[in-house]
This record gives sequence, C-alpha cells and structure tokens, in this order.
Amino acid sequence: MTRYWDNKSETLARPALTALQAARLQATVDRVATHVPWYRERLAALDVRASNIRSTDDVRRLPFTTNADLRAQYPDGLLAVPRHQVLRLHTSSGTTGKPKAIHFSRQDVDNAAGLMARCLVMAGVTAADVVQNMMTYGLFTGALVMHYGAEKVGAMVIPAGPGNSERQLLLMQDFRTTALHVTPSYALYFAGYLASRGVDPRRDLALRRAFIGAEPYTEETRRKIEDQLGVRVFNSYGLSEMNGPGVAFECEHQHGMHLWEDHFLAEIVDPVSGEPLPDGTSGELVLTTLTREAMPLLRYRTRDITAFMPGLCACGRTHRRLQRITGRSDDMLIVRGVNLYPQQIERVLMATPGIGHNYLITLSGLDEMTIQVELAEAGFDGQVEHLVQLQARIAEKLRAEILVKPRVELVPPATLPVSEGKARRVIDQRQL
Ligand code: ADP
Ligand code: ZN
Repeated sequence: MTRYWDNKSETLARPALTALQAARLQATVDRVATHVPWYRERLAALDVRASNIRSTDDVRRLPFTTNADLRAQYPDGLLAVPRHQVLRLHTSSGTTGKPKAIHFSRQDVDNAAGLMARCLVMAGVTAADVVQNMMTYGLFTGALVMHYGAEKVGAMVIPAGPGNSERQLLLMQDFRTTALHVTPSYALYFAGYLASRGVDPRRDLALRRAFIGAEPYTEETRRKIEDQLGVRVFNSYGLSEMNGPGVAFECEHQHGMHLWEDHFLAEIVDPVSGEPLPDGTSGELVLTTLTREAMPLLRYRTRDITAFMPGLCACGRTHRRLQRITGRSDDMLIVRGVNLYPQQIERVLMATPGIGHNYLITLSGLDEMTIQVELAEAGFDGQVEHLVQLQARIAEKLRAEILVKPRVELVPPATLPVSEGKARRVIDQRQL
C-alpha cells in the first residue's frame, strides 16, 4: 500500500490537475500584474492580460524570467506582498556577484514544508525516523526547507550541517540516525571516512535512506553511495527560486523524480532558442510558480537539463517524473571543439574499480584537460605499474565517452579539496 502525505493532491487525475494548473496560472499572472511593476510592464509590452490565460498552453505567451533578472531586481524588485508580510528571506548560493533574494510569506513557508513532507513520505519516511540534515544551514534554502518538512512529518531532525565527520558519526551512533540529507560529494567523502575508521554502516549504524541533491550526480554515484553507506538513495531536486528542495523527488521506485505539478508548471525548452521541445526530449527546464505568494516567478529559466519521463509511475502518483538532471546548460564545456558535460566524466570514473570519490577537472593552456582522480582507500597495491595501467585505462575509457583524451593523474585518497557546499569540479584556466 502506497503511503501519501496528501493523497488527494498527489493522485489527482490529469484533467483535474491540468485544470487546477490553468486556474492557478491565471491567478499568478493576475497577482504579478497587480503587485509587481516589473512584471506589469513586461506583460503590457506583450499585450497579455490575466484574462487571456485560459489553458496551460497559454504559458507560452508569458515572458521568461532569468537568473540575471533576479539579480537585477535584488533585493526586492519582484516582491508581490507588502514587506511586513515577508516571513523569511533566503538567498541563492550563486557563486559571484549579487545574490538572488528569495522572499517567503507565511503561506510560502508552509507550502514549502508541505511539499517537502510529500517528498519524504513518498520516500518512506515516518514519524519514527531520525533525519540528520548535513546540508548547510544559513541563507541557503537546502537545509531549512528540509528541516521544516521533516518536522512536519513528525520525524526527529538533527540539524548537523555539513563537515566535521567525527561529530557526524557520533550523532549517528548516539541518536540512531535513519536518514541523511546530504550532497553527493559529501556522502562519498563521508563513506570514505567511515571506511577509514573501520565503521561498517550496515553493522554499526541504523542508516536506511539518504536524500541526495543540490548538485548533479550520476546513477553510478548513486549506486556507489548506496553500496558504501548501506542506504537507499533518493534523488532530490529543487532550487532556491522555487522554494528550495521539494520541487521534485523520487518515490520508492527510484526511477525519475515526481515534480509537484499542482505548485509548479513545467516546460522543457531548447536552451538556445527558448522554443518548447516535444515531450520526452531533453532540454532546459523552465518553471512557473503556481502558488507562491511573496515572490511568484513566470517561466523561470532554471538552466537545468532534463526531460520528462513517459508513462505513469506504479506508485499511483499522477505528477510526471523528471529524469536525473544531467547538468546545467552553463556547465557545458567545449574542449577542442567538442561539447561535453562533467557528468559524462564522472560516470566513467565512478564505474571504474579502484577509484575513490573525488575528482577535479582542470582546463589549461590552449585546451588541455587534466583530470585528477583520487584512488580508493584500497586502490593501490604498491605496484607502480598497476597505477600506470589504471591511468591509461581511464584515459582510454574517457576518450571513448567524451571524444577528447585527457591527461589522467591518480592522487592519494582524500587529497583533493572537498567543499562543504556544492562541489567545484571544474577549474578553467584556459587562455583562449
Ligand atoms: P544556485 O543556483 O546558486 O546553485 P541553489 O542552491 O538554489 O542555488 O541550487 C539549485 C541548483 O542545484 C539547481 O538549479 C540545480 O542546478 C542543482 N541541483 C539541485 N538538486 C539537484 C539534483 N538532484 N540533481 C542535479 N542538480 C541539482
Ligand atoms: Zn512514483
């Protein structure tokens, strides 16, 4: 028997769901046209009124909102409520320059927690669980939205934050942690830490699940984490602009992430032309908020590359599933004229025995690619020729996958930098 947090919403028949989306889309357009001068001008320029929005297809008449727009409207140019109705501020973990400010009303905070609760129950969490939240607390949405969602379900939350593996382990042992919320890079790092301490998670810990997101990772990495931590890994997708985590999440079938379509209207577009792509084609995910009060966003360009999966899921939820995010449109590297994504490299590395969990891609000179790869704890038998062979094997496998032959450098375990937040996988120092 499938357990739901919100049975009715999660299993709404498609026609009713589409009708609900259309009504909410119209209300959202009305809301921004009335309260956000920036949107009012853009809608007027396109000659679109809320009354023109009758079906979900009409979303195509609306203007896009970009990352740059959010930065330009910092701190409150997109606010749709009076300031005193803002209950919480988050900013996005944007790398440089002005951040993106995301405002939440009370209703927005409740909705975000409610959607997160749906996700957790979908992945099997109950009030008996102990969730160790290893994401960064603070201005980011990642930790807090999960925190509120897990509390809503009634689980006990340990707000551990990232880093300090020794303390993480202590908390896990002493409070019998059953679920982790963690980035893929830290999960792998932590698995290495447990191995180095002689801790066998299946024997010594109570872990059963891990909710993993915030950065792209491959199916191979998922399997590695599942194997090394003795957990089932559920892919978790979200972004600050859309509340944070809880936008899309895997169910017990671990096969694509259900996107909560009663709160977000999704399109997949060509990242270059912005034209909608046919169902099932991979492209950039564009999201329109359908229920946000303080800061609704129309057609937000996420830059995340994914596709909708066809067919219905056996869990009974009617909300469509997104494929694993393969990268961001702006992650794409062009090396010697070849387009490639860091995830293609990761897939090869994670499927290679003897390889550890961390790697760093450096582009330098005129188009040289060097990949430093950590060896696994037990990956070196002391025989130098084995290292040389392994290096050559990886370089050859990579050439077959990405069509560029990189220089591969094997380095000892735990020597590459580990970030507490999102992993930095690529350093581009090319002088092109
Ligand atoms: P920023 O946009 O500054 O990185 P966020 O902290 O809001 O700020 O990060 C959201 C982004 O993280 C998403 O747009 C996506 O690129 C990435 N992300 C989140 N979850 C996943 C996931 N499960 N798989 C791949 N990428 C993800
Ligand atoms: Zn499902």
